[in-house]
Amino acid sequence: MKQLTLATVLTKPNYSATQSESKPSPPAYLDNRVTKSQTDNRRTRSQRARERLDTKEHLAWLAVGIGEVELADKINRCHSRISVLTCGRHIARVIPNFTCEFRLCPDCGRRRSRKIQNKYLPMMRGFMLHNKVTPVHLVLTQTHREESRKQSIKRIKDSFTKLQRRVFWLDHFKGGTWSLEFTKDKNGFHHTHIHIIGFRRKFFDIELLRGEWLAVTGDSHVIHLKKVEDIATGLREVVKYVSKPLDIRRFGADDLKEILGLKNMRMFGTFGEFRDFCKGFEPSDNDAAPVGDLESLARDLVEGCACPQCDQPLFDLRMSGRELPQFYEQVESSPPGEVRKGSH
Ligand SMILES: [Zn+2]
Ligand SMILES: [Zn+2]
Repeated sequence: MKQLTLATVLTKPNYSATQSESKPSPPAYLDNRVTKSQTDNRRTRSQRARERLDTKEHLAWLAVGIGEVELADKINRCHSRISVLTCGRHIARVIPNFTCEFRLCPDCGRRRSRKIQNKYLPMMRGFMLHNKVTPVHLVLTQTHREESRKQSIKRIKDSFTKLQRRVFWLDHFKGGTWSLEFTKDKNGFHHTHIHIIGFRRKFFDIELLRGEWLAVTGDSHVIHLKKVEDIATGLREVVKYVSKPLDIRRFGADDLKEILGLKNMRMFGTFGEFRDFCKGFEPSDNDAAPVGDLESLARDLVEGCACPQCDQPLFDLRMSGRELPQFYEQVESSPPGEVRKGSH
């Protein structure tokens, strides 16, 4: 069990007037995110699997603390037994015995974000094929206020709705996707952002968009915009916030209660002409480019199939979810053919 005392978890953040007036340093924050996501990518699969286990353990422990015993039990059972399809050198597919579907569960979040990618990527490619647009990743942020997470989310969503009605916005964006990211800063204020993959009709000066955002929010001018070079990577980057809505290490019992109260809060959606395009989308031969993600292509694999990476036959290893990080480690570090059935 973690060395987390109830005092550290349950202490209310110390709001003070000066803190609510001081704005975070925006470029540093955004730079941090970029650095952080690069660090994320550098971590090995075994490290990430271990972090998922730690996160789930922490979540289950928090759930017990607030009397949500059933939720804790579900989280504990999620991916507790798994079937791993492997050739010995590669892991082609991990099939869990049970999934909890809890919004904050990192295993279920990964699956959910993969589903979103598989669903929307062909539509995004199709939309780009039919329209003269450039995809950009836009981050809209808002100033910190003393408010609940729910209020913070509502405030930024309302601002975004207003922004979409503005002539400037309609002139420059032909729709796209949005996803919510919410975290807390060290003072306990909610950082709520909207990440947008926007299909830009034509180039504009970012200062103009900043002015538009300030006009609809009244006090927020921090936005960030970058061109998306590869749409698959761009989409993956924004859906990761759907699978991992916040930093669970800073997550306390109050946060869990708040999240449980946000039952029907949407985290991802489409807007504008892209939204209409998705409704009528029928993939044609041109549009239905494969997602290319090995794990999504692995959905139909069964024991005896050829490993997608090396063509060797796949066999089925049953193990406890706790053993997965170690198995990844073994696979990552072993020379060809060294890992064999039952050797874990
Ligand atoms: Zn789960
Ligand atoms: Zn293989």
